This record gives sequence, C-alpha cells and structure tokens, in this order.
Amino acid sequence: MPFKDIIGQEHALKSLQNALIKQRPSHAYMFVGPDGVGKQKTAVAFAQALNCKKTVYDGCGICNTCLRIEKGIHPDVFIISPDGASIKIKQIRELIRDINLKPYEADKRVFIIREAHKMTDEASNCLLKTLEDPPLYGVIILLTTNQHLFLPTVTSRAQVIKFKPLPRKIVEDYLISNLKKTSEEARIISVFSKGSLEMAVKLAHSEEFKEIREEVIKTANQLRKTMEDYPFFLGEKFQQNREKALIFLDMFLLWFRDLMVFKAANTETLNINIDKLEEIRTQTETLQLRELLKIIDDIKKTKKAVESNANISLALTQMLLKTQEVLKKGVHSSRSEI
Ligand SMILES: [Zn+2]
Repeated sequence: MPFKDIIGQEHALKSLQNALIKQRPSHAYMFVGPDGVGKQKTAVAFAQALNCKKTVYDGCGICNTCLRIEKGIHPDVFIISPDGASIKIKQIRELIRDINLKPYEADKRVFIIREAHKMTDEASNCLLKTLEDPPLYGVIILLTTNQHLFLPTVTSRAQVIKFKPLPRKIVEDYLISNLKKTSEEARIISVFSKGSLEMAVKLAHSEEFKEIREEVIKTANQLRKTMEDYPFFLGEKFQQNREKALIFLDMFLLWFRDLMVFKAANTETLNINIDKLEEIRTQTETLQLRELLKIIDDIKKTKKAVESNANISLALTQMLLKTQEVLKKGVHSSRSEI
C-alpha cells in the first residue's frame, strides 16, 4: 500500500516524503502512536518508496518489488515481532547479522521492529551501536505505542515520527465508503474504535459487537419494566467474559450519556446512537438530569471495578439493580403526575 493510500497521518507522511525528496532518509526511525492507526502500513510503504523503481517519492504498489514487500517476502525487507512477551537478544543478533549483509537486489535493506518497546534491556543495548551507525544501505524502523518506554540512548539515536488517533469523521467516511456501513452504524463504530482504523474494521465485522449493542438497548428498556430478575440474568450472562462485560459497560455508559446529552441540550445532533432516537426520546421523558448523572457515575465505578478484577456477575448485578431502581422510580413518578 503506497503512501497515497494511507488514511490520515499527513504529518508523518510529509516528513517521510520530504526525506525522500531531499534524498536524505534517516538510518533509524521511531514511529510512535496508538495501535491500529497505520504505523506498520506506513513503515511498509516507506520500504516500498525507498526501493520502488517505478515511482519517485512513493511506491507504485503494483510492481514486483512493491508486491513482495507488501506480502512480506522481499529478501531485503524484514519485519521483526516479539517472540512471546519480548523481543530477545537472539533476534537482535540476527538483525545485526542480516543488516551487515549487502542487499540482494534493493537499494535499502529495511528492518521494521514491531512493538519495539518489548525489547529486553540486553536486546536494546545490543542494538545501540547498529542503530547509531548502520551500513549505508540499512534503515531500521522501530514501531511503538510509547517512546518513553525506551532507554534514552535508544530514542536519541532514532528520528521520532508521531502518529495520531484518526479523527472520527475520517473513520466514519472510511466505513461508509469502503465497508458499506450506514452513517448510523459508522458513527457508533467510530466512537468505539477510538481513532484506530484497524479496530474500526474489526468492529465492523464483529457479530459480537452488534449483539452486545442490542443487549444494551434491550437492557435499558427491560430495567424500566418490572423484570426484577433481569439484573441477575445479565450478571450471570457476562460472568465468564471480562472483555465482553467491559464492552457492554462502555456501551451502557454511552447509552446513558446519550440520554443525558439529549436531556440537557434538547437536541439530537450530539447523540451517538442516532439510529435509536425514538428510544432515547422516550427514555429521557421520565428521567431527571441528576438521576442520569447518578446512573452514569455508577456505571463508571463498575467499569473500574471490573477492570481491576472484581467479580463480574456481582458488580454488574449490583449496578443494574441500582439503575433499575432509578429508572423505575422515574417511570412511576411520571405516571402518577399524569
Ligand atoms: Zn513499485
């Protein structure tokens, strides 16, 4: 995938392309940014741009060189990943051996180290000398979520290039035009993807994501009725799966935030769940702002508890019982006013 197909990240792409234009690419880079925003794609594109003979300052994406780089089978482009939990000294020794061999066919031998902050201290120290002074044809690209996880001796030897979470609008547009999502679906998914296109694509294909969302809206409705056992049923349902429970809590929080925003601003333009406006309107009618704030506060506390290993079933059930109490009171008092 050439630079021109990488979404967002103009700033990062510009500094790489400038280096190509000036014919002065650095021998070591550190790409820093959240997961799933295009660091590895950009590193691969940079390897293509450095070696493609068809296009200047970018890869063409379709020549034999570009295709093999993309597929990870080019003999001069290497991608190194953690072996288990860390990148070990053995892997770095191999890298040093490989970088000292002349390129088979390319102009530059490129070494991309994924999750480079997982290098052990020995591995980092072993890399230092090569990182500072690789052979002329060698380029090392460290990918990481956090540059502060490195020894300063590593960071100071590489040119740091920052990658940002993508704006929501860019993710939404991508989902609509490339994955044929409706604008409502795209909005929800983009919020949960937190600026990561990779996450957005994963969620767009996830049946589980859809199911949990339906479950959230159903729950908000059920709790308003007299189904006393629903909180227990749901607590049990998520007991075995902390990750799912956390997604449920995130969505549940988002739902009540939507109710609060609607209540406070009396407009739907700020709502995330725009495909459920009718439900939002109905549920908001019977609730006061301070009640919504209380529910939101409870959900946040429960999320923290579940994150720090609390019993899922117990935490969820307690929160849902409290939510139910507030919701039913709201429904009841608005009925008695009539
Ligand atoms: Zn090419």
